[in-house]
Amino acid sequence: MHELHGKAAIVTGASRGIGAATAAALADAGVSVILAARSESQIRHNADVIREKGGQAEAVTCDVSKYKDVQALISHCESTFGRMDLLINNAGVIDPIGHLSTSDPDTWADAADINFKGVYFGMRAALPIMMSQNKGVIVNVGSGAAHSPLEGWSHYCASKAATHMLTRCADKEVAETGVRVVSLSPGTVATEMQVLIKASGINPVSQLDPSDHIDPQWPAKAIVWLCTEDAAEFSGTEVSLRDQIIRDRIGLA
Ligand code: NAP
Repeated sequence: MHELHGKAAIVTGASRGIGAATAAALADAGVSVILAARSESQIRHNADVIREKGGQAEAVTCDVSKYKDVQALISHCESTFGRMDLLINNAGVIDPIGHLSTSDPDTWADAADINFKGVYFGMRAALPIMMSQNKGVIVNVGSGAAHSPLEGWSHYCASKAATHMLTRCADKEVAETGVRVVSLSPGTVATEMQVLIKASGINPVSQLDPSDHIDPQWPAKAIVWLCTEDAAEFSGTEVSLRDQIIRDRIGLA
């Protein structure tokens, strides 16, 4: 039986891409999963697929940029499964791609609210529960863009850098309690986000060939592993899936 069997998890941004793959991978490991995103029909469908395969899953609509939504999401997990063990802060957006000097302040700020404040909101709502249990894992999905400035991505690079620092700060505050906070930088992954990036034509990432991207199953597998005790030594850090040592450790080719 998998070490995570019987635990309860929330995956944000589970309507497609990395989040959908992660929810399915956690369910395969025997975790009861709440799939959260704004697209109700997609998360319902993904939860149905998990249940048809014998897993436990629920769909909850949530806009992570709204704290009320995030609080309700965490409460739903506790009331449905009687526990709250794992939080995967995965929801994120790449739009609006464009130069800072011509950016629309509202949409730029919306992206920051989702990519950065959404992660803070998830941690703010989940940490008191996890700390009272002296147990729990939060995985924040980061990006290499946190460390490499890219033309047209000021909102994205800045919000991922902020999320990286949130991970490190949270670890300083909770490591002693038994709660782990860690980040995954997945590399480039074949999802809708990369389709939008390609269409923009801005910066070298848009020039990559779709075959350069890894399958969403890879970060999903990495996130499941980060939730296990085997990955405890990485708390407070950003684990990169470009790192061959990490790939070997997880068993990815
Ligand atoms: P994706 O296919 O575009 O999926 C993004 C997910 O985030 C969707 O499920 C979307 O669902 C959800 N989302 C967006 N805004 C939301 C909001 N306000 N509230 C709740 N959910 C929201 O992209 P992806 O590639 O899987 O990205 C997942 C994560 O990986 C992101 O944090 C991204 O920055 C990170 N990442 C991706 C890559 C890559 O190459 N793909 C590389 C590095 C990091 P709804 O639209 O239904 O709400």
